[in-house]
Amino acid sequence: MLALLAFAFARSLPSDAPARPADRLLEQVDWAAATPELTRLLSELLQIESVNPPGNERAAVDYLDRVLQAEGIVTELVPLEDGRASLIARLPGTGDQQPLCLLSHVDVVPAEADRWKVSPFSGEVKEGFVWGRGALDMKGMTALEVMTMIQIKRLGVPLNRQLVLLAVADEEVDSKGIDSVVKLWDRVNCSHSINEGGYGLQDLFIKGQTFHAISVAEKGAVWMKMIASGAPGHGSTPVPGRAPEVLTRALQRLAQRKDVVHWNPVLMESFRRVGAEGGGLSGAILQNPFLVKLLVRDRLMKNPPTHAALTNTVNVTGFFGGKQPNVVPSEVGAVLDCRILPGETAEALVAELVALVDDPAIRFEITSSTLANASTWDDPFFRALADRAVLGQEHAVAGPIVSIGYTDSQALRPLGVHAYGYVPFVIDGELLATAHGDNERVPVSELEPGLRRLLGAVLDVSTGREDGPRAAPNVEQAR
Ligand SMILES: [Zn+2]
Repeated sequence: MLALLAFAFARSLPSDAPARPADRLLEQVDWAAATPELTRLLSELLQIESVNPPGNERAAVDYLDRVLQAEGIVTELVPLEDGRASLIARLPGTGDQQPLCLLSHVDVVPAEADRWKVSPFSGEVKEGFVWGRGALDMKGMTALEVMTMIQIKRLGVPLNRQLVLLAVADEEVDSKGIDSVVKLWDRVNCSHSINEGGYGLQDLFIKGQTFHAISVAEKGAVWMKMIASGAPGHGSTPVPGRAPEVLTRALQRLAQRKDVVHWNPVLMESFRRVGAEGGGLSGAILQNPFLVKLLVRDRLMKNPPTHAALTNTVNVTGFFGGKQPNVVPSEVGAVLDCRILPGETAEALVAELVALVDDPAIRFEITSSTLANASTWDDPFFRALADRAVLGQEHAVAGPIVSIGYTDSQALRPLGVHAYGYVPFVIDGELLATAHGDNERVPVSELEPGLRRLLGAVLDVSTGREDGPRAAPNVEQAR
């Protein structure tokens, strides 16, 4: 996720978007009831301890199953091992358009309860927030997606495409949930999906401006071992060229690795949008790629999340080898977590590291590798999400980002899905840090606006005729 950068400057006036056909439908929603209903749904979902490992997602999807079935929505369980399952729910459409997927995961990461102000699984509602592990990542979004299905069912509006809710298990560890759904893909077959990714982030690039970050891409992850070898021997006698010394030298060379900035078009597009909305001198700079590279580069590179968004990263995350202080082992090694941008390959990264380390006593072994992938932002659903994100707000702009971590969207793009990541709550950097951290919570005041943004965008592309050109194909990664 991009992080906070302070730029101060003049503001522009908000623009008025034209009315859309779905606005009429939105007016028929009982908005007075929406916030209490969403608050209860989210609170009850947060009370289910679906901590992964072990997951226990079955309890969470059983709960959602009851909520959806009570509204007459057809559901289907996709079981994993004991106590674990994913849920599929469907609203029928005419089939004029391919189905649209509302994707979320219902597992959560563990919480250190003694560091929290409330119990992480209390679902407590106080001080204007709904508290609990998963409030942001990502049961808050699950609640919005379930409520979007329910509201559309209650509206009784004819749909030009089927809506498919996917509430999956195991995103936080192995992605077994989405993998089991991918195996049934001929029965899902969505052209588009919405999932986690970005949020509406206050003061991200420009003070006073909210940037709605809609993820269109995820970096690839290449996990590898860097292994040094040499003759074994007695610890009492230092001899040049032994494995630990070889490894130490290789690590020093890795630490000197020069960053190569990849000014990918996704970020440049967002800088352009942010600058155009923000106006003033900083706005002019951000709209000019030459000036961004010249004047903003250092600031972006000093900030770890933006640095990660602009470069292929190599991160030493562990060591192995050596059992006893008096024995020099024949092999020792480091564990590397490397993340690569769209268009890059694991092989090219290894070749770069081999050249950098420049030592025949070092070898690299890839233990796991996924490529980055990306969807176009020239797409009717992306436009609907972006338009609904900023509707009625002053000093707000939406644009595409590259997620620096993994999400389940990565499993859908190879199937041809235009997969977007956007949780439509407006939050600040402090709240964002509570996801996977302490005191995770979502403002109650963001529940209704969040539902308006998501429900509006879904109705925009599922009712009436499709306006705008057909979507371009996915931007496929080099293989
Ligand atoms: Zn998540």
